[in-house]
Amino acid sequence: IVKMDKVNKHFGSLHVMQDIDLEVAPGEVVVIVGASGSGKSTLIRCVNGLEEFQSGAIEVDGNQLLPYGKSGRSLQTIRTEVGMVFQQFNLFPHLSVRDNVTLAPLKVRGWNRQHSTEIADRLLERVGISDQADKYPSQLSGGQQQRVALARALAMEPRLMLFDEPTSALDPEMIGEVLDAMRELANEGMTMMIVTHEMGFAREVADRVIFVHGGRIVEQGPPDEIFDNPRHERTQSFLARVL
Ligand code: ATP
Ligand code: MG
Repeated sequence: IVKMDKVNKHFGSLHVMQDIDLEVAPGEVVVIVGASGSGKSTLIRCVNGLEEFQSGAIEVDGNQLLPYGKSGRSLQTIRTEVGMVFQQFNLFPHLSVRDNVTLAPLKVRGWNRQHSTEIADRLLERVGISDQADKYPSQLSGGQQQRVALARALAMEPRLMLFDEPTSALDPEMIGEVLDAMRELANEGMTMMIVTHEMGFAREVADRVIFVHGGRIVEQGPPDEIFDNPRHERTQSFLARVL
């Protein structure tokens, strides 16, 4: 469902993505790990067109993203088909929890209010916060806010979900509830690309772990292989620091 072909990106003189080749199959859960500044966020932000790149191509569910943002309509299509959850929850503070979730279905999908509300309430139930639907984001804990962000992304019925350190801004006691919701989503067969420092979670849910260093994919494979038997010296020293 995702195919990145020799993607290169520079920020000025900094070569942040170097010949990235990466394919993700439908239903696959790919976890991207690597040190700070290695290019993890840039990589997944390219997949839904939040970052431009300078050479190569990215295909998402049959839609092409091209260098220098010359993607035309397919950028719009990809944005509606790919959901993203960030470290900061980015909820709309002036909207209730339910309205945060129904906004895109109403405006972008053009679904009517009854249908949008039904979907929102079902998703809020699924992430365990149906009792918070009428509150505002500021009245919720971080873990609850992040689950709203997840429900909001899922309301668009995405074909692919991107996560960029979804638990990094959370207090430790709230990390588990967000990871639980993500684990459930993975078990339901959602295609997911996840940047995280939660190595236990990665080992458990990933079909494949990708180690990035200096803008390159240095090593990838099944979690047991990467965590127990990393081949590349960079992967070894990274894991020695984080595990
Ligand atoms: P972290 O774990 O800290 O989130 P990361 O692996 O996600 O790091 P990126 O955010 O992708 O790393 O950044 C990769 C490199 O690109 C870093 O050196 C960063 O400083 C640089 N960079 C990121 N965004 C920009 C930007 N808008 N302008 C210039 N340089 C940038
Ligand atoms: Mg990052």
